[in-house]
Amino acid sequence: MTFSIHGLPVARGIAIGRAVLVASSRLDVAHYFIEPSQVASEINRVRDGRNAVVDEIHRLQVSIAHMGPKEAPHEMAALLEVHLMLLQDEALAMGVKHWIKDRLYNAEWALTSQLEVLARQFDEMEDDYLRERKADLEQITERVLRAMRGVSSPLIQPLGRIGRKPSQQDLLLDDTIDVPLILVAHDLSPADMLQFKQSVFAGFITDVGGKTSHTAIVARSLDIPAVVGARLSSQLIRQDDWVIIDGDAGVVVVDPSAIILAEYGFKQRQGELARGRLARLLHTPSVTMDGQKIELLANIEMPDDAASAINAGAVGVGLFRSEFLFMGRHGKLPNEEEQYLAYRRAVEGMQGLPVTIRTVDVGADKPLDDSPRDAAHLNPALGLRAIRWSLADPAMFLTQLRAMLRAAAHGQVHILIPMLVHASEIRQTMALVDHARVQLDNRGLAYGPVKVGAMIEIPAAALTLKVFLKYFDFLSIGTNDLIQYTLAIDRADESVAHLYDPMHPAVLRLVANTIAEGHAQGKLVSVCGEMAGDVAFTKLLLGMGLRSFSMHPAQILAVKQEILRSDTVKLATWAAQVLADDEPSKRIAKAS
Ligand code: PEP
Ligand code: MG
Repeated sequence: MTFSIHGLPVARGIAIGRAVLVASSRLDVAHYFIEPSQVASEINRVRDGRNAVVDEIHRLQVSIAHMGPKEAPHEMAALLEVHLMLLQDEALAMGVKHWIKDRLYNAEWALTSQLEVLARQFDEMEDDYLRERKADLEQITERVLRAMRGVSSPLIQPLGRIGRKPSQQDLLLDDTIDVPLILVAHDLSPADMLQFKQSVFAGFITDVGGKTSHTAIVARSLDIPAVVGARLSSQLIRQDDWVIIDGDAGVVVVDPSAIILAEYGFKQRQGELARGRLARLLHTPSVTMDGQKIELLANIEMPDDAASAINAGAVGVGLFRSEFLFMGRHGKLPNEEEQYLAYRRAVEGMQGLPVTIRTVDVGADKPLDDSPRDAAHLNPALGLRAIRWSLADPAMFLTQLRAMLRAAAHGQVHILIPMLVHASEIRQTMALVDHARVQLDNRGLAYGPVKVGAMIEIPAAALTLKVFLKYFDFLSIGTNDLIQYTLAIDRADESVAHLYDPMHPAVLRLVANTIAEGHAQGKLVSVCGEMAGDVAFTKLLLGMGLRSFSMHPAQILAVKQEILRSDTVKLATWAAQVLADDEPSKRIAKAS
């Protein structure tokens, strides 16, 4: 039966495909398609992994048989029996076989897919004892996966295989294996999201998350349709269900009827045509109708993203979120050489254009890994994140600064500092930048000149710009956090997402004031938060005097189109009226 789930639109476009339910922790396993000729060997890999665990349990059974009740209580023997029973259960073996044979999933993916199916059946059991066996099932699956790690695996298939759109016939016949897959999860960390860059998924849906949560930001940069905050979707959608994601409306349609499929198929094609038209603007200079040149920069997460920045026509990188190099490494941070090579790769990838690298901004919804460290703090967004984290560990910070300065020997590098608020933090930061240079001199290592800029993303910073303008070469407004901290709305919490309002008069005044004061002092001011890439705000930001926008590459052409249709003289008058309004959103809506 068709039903829909409403969430928050994150990344535009329509995706139609089959649901793949994954728990965040299970994303660790590889997801790829095998060739039909590999079916038997993949089934064997699972079987060998399972047999290895069965043998392991048998050995354990033998050894505990010789122990007394103190060392090996009766429950232990019973537990091993349960594990053996689950391992040898037909439902597990047959299910895994189905995913491999009929869907061509690799062995690990097939195993975790079947785990999701069975786990749900356990969840629905009335009997407490049986329901709790889900944990045992998870344990044995982990053990089989571990056992399989030693067994060689075929190479990952190129992504192109799933790139083909399903035909209506595919969809209606429902018997194809060659269709896009939609990932459905309760939550995904930003580090999980990064894996998508190499994955087979054509869209994703999560139960939780806000529109400017970092998970959503990474999703947007992947340019695949996505909906977050679609509550209960991971419970309502079943493994392998057909789903449609409408990334523009934030709607998920489950088990669509033929008519709905046809309608969304049409919408999908319309979207592709519109993108095709936008692509014609690639080489058009970004200049307003009254001749103002507007700088369009890219936000990137990884050095290799420089390629998509260049392909989208960006004239530089306005925000390289360096923290993604630090994530998912189980506490082992990248050393100076590794960072230097990564920054250098981004700089060289930008072919002489400037690259603004932000110093590490971990904390809040960007934990380093899945450690419970951040969860232990009551308000991680107000805690030790970004520059606070860096200043708390000067050796780590100096390592990063040295790597950035060394990369500057290969091209234009700007260093951007996040979350500053106190004059003392500014002074400490500047002293450490100087100290990093001295260290490099002492070691005889080459480095280049850099401009240093500050992010304005806390209201207190926006209200005390004088001290920032004294020390920094440029400012970059982080509207994502500025909105969060001005309105006291957690940007990652979907339950208050309706109150997360970029058009709140307080937010608009802080943004406008920062642009005006910065320009009055002859400093370059950019916006690198999500507002910069949202066409709903292009005209307003131009009217406020903004001439530099930084956004994920996928948005650049759409924003350029708005710029080409704008007259900044007229927009300045209109923006002044918007800023004076108690309810700017109404005036903005009227103009669009
Ligand atoms: C911002 O806060 O607007 C910003 C660009 O930084 P981040 O989203 O990484 O916090
Ligand atoms: Mg920020």
